[in-house]
Amino acid sequence: MAARVLDGAAIATEIRAELAPRVAEFERRAGRQPGLSIVLVGDKADSQIYVSSKLKSAADEGINASLSHLAADASLDQILALVDKLNRDPTTDGILVQSPLPDRLGPAAMQQVFDLIDPSKDVDGFTPVNVGRLSQNRADLVPCTPAGIVELLKRTGIAIAGKHAVVIGRSDIVGKPVSMLLLHRNATVTICHSRTADLPAVAATGDILVAAVGRPGFVRKPFLKPGATVIDVGINRVTDEAAAKELLGAKRFESFLKRGSAVVGDVHPEVSEVAGAITPVPGGVGPLTVAMLMSNTLRAAELRVK
Ligand code: NDP
Repeated sequence: MAARVLDGAAIATEIRAELAPRVAEFERRAGRQPGLSIVLVGDKADSQIYVSSKLKSAADEGINASLSHLAADASLDQILALVDKLNRDPTTDGILVQSPLPDRLGPAAMQQVFDLIDPSKDVDGFTPVNVGRLSQNRADLVPCTPAGIVELLKRTGIAIAGKHAVVIGRSDIVGKPVSMLLLHRNATVTICHSRTADLPAVAATGDILVAAVGRPGFVRKPFLKPGATVIDVGINRVTDEAAAKELLGAKRFESFLKRGSAVVGDVHPEVSEVAGAITPVPGGVGPLTVAMLMSNTLRAAELRVK
């Protein structure tokens, strides 16, 4: 039997509808809209798409989002100076620096940016203070994708407490924080990575399997405990026709042939035959990430005005 599809887009709409009265109440009390400042460095096509979708969602929600777009050759000092200015701007409640930064800035640049962002405006939940608070289960601002995953499980009635959750991926933005959130909700959590021995066998012990790997169609049937809930976090652009044919349904493959690329997750379509429930890509975790960004911006604004 095909797995139940967990409609992240519908849940994101539900979450955003719930924000509307709180946004109106904030505006009444503060005399202004909640403010989100997005910093984009360079012209990476995917980053521009993500930023546009965040700006549109903010506008729909009554959040005043502004974009500071720096040239691809901007220096780290310029980026840090901009963050410093936004930290001091009283109408900016949330600061989001779109990742990744240009490669030439080096692997430590993003962390230097997170080290500078005022934790009370850290709507990504990536500053050291907020990471620490998350590990102590007292975070106000939780990373958006992991928070969205937990909302999705909660709102689709999938139990977490007492279940074994296997997370493939240990990044600071998805793998580690989602593991922490699941642990705080009383799951038993196993975190896997590229050095995990016999990964399929470990993954197949999970009642909940979270794939945050960044490899198209990586999770196959042998990774699954029959009936498990699969959360596909991956957003991978494929341009290879053979891979697209394998990973896309007929209709999306047709559109791939016209466009020359398509977005797929980390989970192979064959997994639907074994899973109990699964998130689609697109339309699963992605829309929830944006909804939780709006939720975090409003939360940051409410806390600052309080
Ligand atoms: P990273 O590249 O930072 O982390 C990938 C993780 O996967 C690493 O921990 C890595 O292990 C592990 N990994 C890589 N190859 C293997 C392998 N062969 N076997 C086991 N583990 C492996 O990626 P992110 O966490 O940033 O993102 C993961 C995916 O999620 C990407 O596709 C990204 O685009 C997507 N994403 C989607 C979002 C959404 O809103 N839906 C938001 C954020 C990300 P190791 O640590 O050992 O290298």
